[in-house]
Amino acid sequence: MTVTGAIWRDQLTADERAVLGRADGGVAGARPDVLVVGGGIVGVTTAFACVTGGLGDVLLIETGRLGAGATGGATGLLIPEPHQWSDPEPFVDLERASLERWRDLQQALPAGVGLVELDWLGLAPHASGFAAHQPRDVQWLNPGQVAELVPGLARPMEGALIRRQARVNPLRAVARLAARLPAVATGVAATSVVMSGDRVVRVATSSGDISPGVVVFATGRPPVLDGLPLHIPSDRVKGHLLVTERTDIRLPGIVAPVATQIEGGQLLAGGTFDVGDETPAVQPDVIDGITAGLAAVLPRLRELGVAYQWCCFRPRHPDRRPVIDKVPGLANAWLTSGHFRTGILNAPATAAVLSRWIETGNPPADARTWSATRFGGH
Ligand SMILES: Cc1cc2nc3c(=O)[nH]c(=O)nc-3n(C[C@H](O)[C@H](O)[C@H](O)COP(=O)(O)OP(=O)(O)OC[C@H]3O[C@@H](n4cnc5c(N)ncnc54)[C@H](O)[C@@H]3O)c2cc1C
Repeated sequence: MTVTGAIWRDQLTADERAVLGRADGGVAGARPDVLVVGGGIVGVTTAFACVTGGLGDVLLIETGRLGAGATGGATGLLIPEPHQWSDPEPFVDLERASLERWRDLQQALPAGVGLVELDWLGLAPHASGFAAHQPRDVQWLNPGQVAELVPGLARPMEGALIRRQARVNPLRAVARLAARLPAVATGVAATSVVMSGDRVVRVATSSGDISPGVVVFATGRPPVLDGLPLHIPSDRVKGHLLVTERTDIRLPGIVAPVATQIEGGQLLAGGTFDVGDETPAVQPDVIDGITAGLAAVLPRLRELGVAYQWCCFRPRHPDRRPVIDKVPGLANAWLTSGHFRTGILNAPATAAVLSRWIETGNPPADARTWSATRFGGH
């Protein structure tokens, strides 16, 4: 599904927008050392890591435009520390490592990736949520301190302040990274694979056959391609987001569960989990629910109009953790999928794992945590 209606594209320069539609010419007959299938944040960061890791010719193909899937609709928050409330330790560790890699990318690219450092303030937090996971850098605030940071709250609330989290416009990050890739072909769908023994020797696409040295599938959910025997359970969970009109209300970064202040004084809110809603359309009642939630916490927001509203689908495996693995049984094919609600955050760490694995042939120490076979079926 192509995400429409999100604010992110409107924030790009014309050059950045053009990169999202990069189509460098025919792919038929191409013999790249590395073929990456899927131009979301995970595919683009993986291709970038393979290029900077010196893995040879890298070609990325994407069936639509870059970032057209979950990536283009995400909130873009890079917030590992608050996930101590919801995610197990190895997952939070991956997220922390990935945020550091985002910072490295911000430094490495001449104009950065558009990373914005900001604080996260959780209202009325459950203190017990942190106990099991060694709290880092959490500053507990009493209601008076919270009211100083967020004046006008409907009721006094305690808070947990975590500094130095971050966010990106996911499409800007995609565009900035993709601009540095040697070969990108949008509008090209992988349709089937041909195997010889345990190797993928050909990937058939809507624009002709490609013969890659290795292939990485970064297709959001596991790819469904003729000739590729994959049985990994996954589904998708819809979410709605909105951006308000400009306002003079200033939030101290991300205020959860209220909103995030973005460029131009607008507020970004939502991130609903609309389990079971498979329709691609924005549901007005969900948007109404988000605006009602904003007004319930900060009554001053009641009169604020909605400038953007959109929805998209998070790819998910049953245990809510991604797969980062070789395709079971194959020697030259890798797969990453199911990044659910942290794919933007975890993209650079995932990319690093994959590019190193391809380069050295050695799986990472924690490979089992992310394995494709952990659900059975292989
Ligand atoms: C409402 C919402 C809010 C979110 N907020 C955050 C957040 O704040 N922080 C965060 O870290 N994450 C967030 N996420 C999650 C994040 O959006 C996803 O985890 C991430 O975008 C997944 O990236 P991806 O590259 O794996 O998948 P995608 O972005 O879906 O990219 C996969 C690409 O592969 C292409 N493709 C598929 N099949 C083929 C094929 N056969 N041939 C060629 N191309 C193909 C698709 O067209 C697509 O562009 C949010 C998600 C939602 C829905």
